[in-house]
Amino acid sequence: MSPESRKKTVPRTHSAPTPRRVAVIGAGIAGIACARTLVQAGHNVTVFEKSSGAGGRMATRNSEFGGFDHGTQYFTVRDARFEKALSTSGALVRPWSANTVRILDELGRVVASSLPPKEAHWVAAPGMNALVRHWAQPLVDAHAIAFETHVTRIEADKLKPGCWQLQAEGPGADSLVHSGFDTVVMAMPSAQAQALLLSSQQAKPLVAAMGKVAVAPCWTLMLAFPQAAQPNLYHLGPHWNAARSTHHRIAWLARESSKPGRGPMERWTVQASPEWSERHLEDDAARVKDKLLKAFTEVTGIRAEPPYAEVHRWRYAQTTQPLGKSHLWDAKSGIGACGDWCLGHRVEDGFISGLEMALAIC
Ligand SMILES: Cc1cc2nc3c(=O)[nH]c(=O)nc-3n(C[C@H](O)[C@H](O)[C@H](O)COP(=O)(O)OP(=O)(O)OC[C@H]3O[C@@H](n4cnc5c(N)ncnc54)[C@H](O)[C@@H]3O)c2cc1C
Repeated sequence: MSPESRKKTVPRTHSAPTPRRVAVIGAGIAGIACARTLVQAGHNVTVFEKSSGAGGRMATRNSEFGGFDHGTQYFTVRDARFEKALSTSGALVRPWSANTVRILDELGRVVASSLPPKEAHWVAAPGMNALVRHWAQPLVDAHAIAFETHVTRIEADKLKPGCWQLQAEGPGADSLVHSGFDTVVMAMPSAQAQALLLSSQQAKPLVAAMGKVAVAPCWTLMLAFPQAAQPNLYHLGPHWNAARSTHHRIAWLARESSKPGRGPMERWTVQASPEWSERHLEDDAARVKDKLLKAFTEVTGIRAEPPYAEVHRWRYAQTTQPLGKSHLWDAKSGIGACGDWCLGHRVEDGFISGLEMALAIC
């Protein structure tokens, strides 16, 4: 058989998939990894994000004294697919070689023991939110992200049978309806996805699966000490830049100014332990600030009054019991869910989950 005739008789076994119209709810790393992969596969995607920018818990708080990574502190890279995606980000992703210590005594003071890093620690510069914002930019340019749009309900499309529409509160709390989606992906913490499905009375098997996931909260304290910027006084307090702590209130401390690409002003980010955060979840922010500030002084010995001290409560911070698979997908209804909680508690888990969610849809 000549190559010509073979060409005519071999049947086409693969046809290009029909482009779907997909709504991705959430512009954290999982949502953006999912949306980008779907767009690359030829689908028509709109991302809905309740805050004013992309990044989610890879967050940066700006202040007059410089920025704070008040969510993710750093990330690690174990999966070749994440490594490949990061390689396209140029100088935006930088290694952070913090001299990290473990704090051991009863009061939570450093007894010594430096913690040699088991694997490289990476940060985005100039702030942690820069990486997801960079990856989201092509979607922003294509007007494919609606910011300040809080999705409150997923329901059957009133005009297009078999499709979904989203009820949302837009900028200025205007009620909006976005319609005509074949597929809806929730890329947000499991409890928020579960609540959205419950209020929408949709996808009961997904709701049940999410019930097994547990996520701990985290109160975070941000401090700036501009008084440290004096001649011969480069920084205040300890010589370490990051610490894992056994203090009854504090689990982690990091000197923001030790991270690459940040300003030199002395700034600290302090995370309360999951147990303490849980116990004080509904406390008044001013009270939490006072208690964490006191603990910070005990751990670091820094007694100077910080002109900037703010707290942030993460109701859903780090997964303690993951789902155990990369995503949830109900092909019949066209509803899926992804996020770090599917696989673990790390940034990379969010990325892999979003990527595999998109591949499942494709
Ligand atoms: C304090 C803290 C410290 C951490 N430290 C580290 C660390 O050192 N290393 C590490 O690897 N990981 C760390 N993590 C975890 C890491 O931040 C997460 O694994 C990762 O950012 C999760 O990404 P995600 O896309 O799954 O979810 P998210 O980043 O939470 O994104 C979800 C997005 O959905 C949006 N959203 C939610 N509901 C709606 C709705 N109804 N409508 C519209 N938008 C909605 C949210 O605004 C958000 O932007 C930390 C997290 C916290 C909070």
